[in-house]
Amino acid sequence: MCMTRLSDLPLDKPVTLEPMKAFPHLRDLVTDVSWNFRVKKKIKPFKPRPPDAPDGTWRMAQADVDRVQEFRKCIECFLCQNVCHVLREHQKHEEFIGPRFLVYAAALEMHPLDTEDRTEELRQAHGIGYCNITKCCTKVCPEEITITDNAIIPLKERVVDNFYDPLGKLVKLFRPKAQK
Ligand code: SF4
Ligand code: SF4
Repeated sequence: MCMTRLSDLPLDKPVTLEPMKAFPHLRDLVTDVSWNFRVKKKIKPFKPRPPDAPDGTWRMAQADVDRVQEFRKCIECFLCQNVCHVLREHQKHEEFIGPRFLVYAAALEMHPLDTEDRTEELRQAHGIGYCNITKCCTKVCPEEITITDNAIIPLKERVVDNFYDPLGKLVKLFRPKAQK
């Protein structure tokens, strides 16, 4: 196993520390993770619908708020990026944004006020199809974000609904844009 939680380590034995492998090594344990920040800039930003009330406030269902709250716990440690075989072994950095940024995209896509549609980018430039749901990312997340089940799988479903389901496409044409 390439990564172990401190709480799981047998501390009576020597501990080996290694730099992350998915990013260029600089020196000692330091790697260049700047690629991640460039990726983040490519994701379409939050685009809220107009306020629901004249005083500039919105109304949201608590369940919808709770759904995205989990994704906001991310501390950008990039451990999930490091264990993902698409980045770590196959070096698909040009074609796949990795689990951290699928979580970030999910936080925006599932936000109850957001009106943007990121499914075309998820399918093409962000390479969501490369993820084969091995769940390695979920296992290492120190914030215990359920990356695959709660973020990636629902995003994959949105992509399928938008691009491979003709009936869904038709419904979407007649649906108000703010309804996500
Ligand atoms: S579930 Fe997907 S994103 Fe997560 S490590 Fe596996 S291939 Fe990568
Ligand atoms: S492992 Fe968890 S906390 Fe770390 S970057 Fe990935 S999602 Fe965020």
